[in-house]
Amino acid sequence: MCGIVGYIGTKPAAEVLLSGLSKLEYRGYDSAGIAVRNGLDNPLIVKAKGKLKHLLDKTNNGKTVPGFVGVGHTRWATHGAPSELNAHPHCSDDMNVVGVHNGIIENYQELKEKLINKGYTFYSQTDTEVLIKLADYYYKKYNIGPVDAINKVMVRARGSYAVAIMFKDYPNQIWFAKKGSPLIIAKGKDESFLASDVPAILEYANQVYYVEDYECGCLEGGNVTFYNLDGTDITSTKKLVNIDWKADAACKGNYPHFMIKEIEEQPRVVEDTLNAYIKDNKIDFDSIGLSKEMLSKYENIYIFACGSAYHTGIVAQYIIESMCNIPVRVDLASEFKYRNYPLNKNGLAIVISQSGETKDTYEAMIKAKECGLNTMAIVNVKGSTITRDADITALTYAGPEISVATTKAYSCQLIVLYLLAVQMGYAKGLVDEKKYEYYINELKQIPSKINEILDEKVEIQKLANKFLSMRDVFFIGRGIDYALCMEGALKLKEITYINANAYAAGELKHGTISLIDEHVATVAVLTQEDLFEKTQSNMVEIRAREGSVIALTTYGNYKVDQASNDQVYVPEIEDIFAPSLAIIPLQLLSYYVSVNKGIDPDKPKNLAKSVTVE
Ligand code: GLU
Repeated sequence: MCGIVGYIGTKPAAEVLLSGLSKLEYRGYDSAGIAVRNGLDNPLIVKAKGKLKHLLDKTNNGKTVPGFVGVGHTRWATHGAPSELNAHPHCSDDMNVVGVHNGIIENYQELKEKLINKGYTFYSQTDTEVLIKLADYYYKKYNIGPVDAINKVMVRARGSYAVAIMFKDYPNQIWFAKKGSPLIIAKGKDESFLASDVPAILEYANQVYYVEDYECGCLEGGNVTFYNLDGTDITSTKKLVNIDWKADAACKGNYPHFMIKEIEEQPRVVEDTLNAYIKDNKIDFDSIGLSKEMLSKYENIYIFACGSAYHTGIVAQYIIESMCNIPVRVDLASEFKYRNYPLNKNGLAIVISQSGETKDTYEAMIKAKECGLNTMAIVNVKGSTITRDADITALTYAGPEISVATTKAYSCQLIVLYLLAVQMGYAKGLVDEKKYEYYINELKQIPSKINEILDEKVEIQKLANKFLSMRDVFFIGRGIDYALCMEGALKLKEITYINANAYAAGELKHGTISLIDEHVATVAVLTQEDLFEKTQSNMVEIRAREGSVIALTTYGNYKVDQASNDQVYVPEIEDIFAPSLAIIPLQLLSYYVSVNKGIDPDKPKNLAKSVTVE
């Protein structure tokens, strides 16, 4: 959610900031701004509501804002409407402190009142202006330097923040601090950078420092200094982390949208993820600290996640319960945090997050940890907050995912969960050697089978036209297909704004069928052999009520045409792995409907990629 960038060095800062912000656009935002400092002059602040393009136009691509030190921001409004006034950077009245902020200051009202009593006035509705003016207040009142002023702010402010601040008296420095919101630092020769996420700096650096909670510090030319809350210099304890992503991975190339690029990358990234954990035709989780012995002993699995990651958890629930014969509970991370139920300490808590920064998921993991459970994170971003605090991390190898609606990260999460289920079943002696080999061979077929589906994407493109006039869309299926339907419905809602709902096929007649008419389309997913006929009966019921039905099934199941208006076929595969194939047409369908409706699928309204607020 929102992006911050900072640059100090030898290049024109505005250009670096704007380019960095463009790489963070995927995070979701509603306005943008930069503040650039030219020598001893006060920083020049330029802000614009709406797309980054407006800021680029307003500054002639940064050229009208000269200087070599600056901070930039894309805002996802929490406090105050998305407007130019509320956009960041914010400043104290005399420009003593100018800065940008990602996150929420929970006690901003109380702090604002305190500052008003001290004579401060406020021009915006943001919590950020309060934070900036609080730094100004401490700095002047106690006549202290930036480290102490920032540390006093950190002690006083509640909530989450990643901030980048410039102080008038320190023209060649940018200060930063963090609690709860992501912040990375990179350095080069005579220059340094800060950003909310790696894509912003990929062009310039391949190593980063992760700022930890309650740390602050300073960029000065090519030097970076870190301090803890006591004001002690802790720079020597900080480690640079290598970034394995290539700069072009965060570029669109010849594709019209990141989403279609990422959909098409799936055969490769699924293969990369399989290769990371299959060694000599055996699954290897030892390298991440998850031995077969540990897997044989877990008595329960708890899965906590949000959005699409939660849907991969539901698929895993069906598979692990049947393959490993242990109970699996899947909870939305935001719900688990505030409820209490008995947790078996001999269980494993699995959290799933693309960014590794999802606040709800992170907090659910910490709660599970505090309850004494072993925690495992399935995350795409190496070094992210969740990976740093999890006992075990299984990375997905999707590469940077820029499009707001996840596709390739979802597919890679599914792969890790399949591998986990098979390995756990094997470790518990419930999957024999022959079956183990069979499952691994089936998994290895997934990339080429995804390619086969992608080769026929034009068929889905044609089908997408039918959805333009639909009022509602239902996705129905049973078992794992139902879990897949949840993801199909979410994808459609996210990027086409058509109301879509996933329904367990057998549940339709218990209420929802009253909504079926000629303005409602139903996508029926039938990849599970044993449930095929049951779902087909539900399709017939829909057609009897003038609803149109699109069947998504595997080659060979040609009898679906008796109960559907259109059919989409995917290659055959072991039933439990079918979601990895059946999800591809559903992603393509949402993509083409979105494009046909004139929506930018990469940046649907109101959504943010990395959800770092509660
Ligand atoms: N809470 C701040 C605001 O509303 C920052 C939001 C953000 O992270 O973009 O301005």
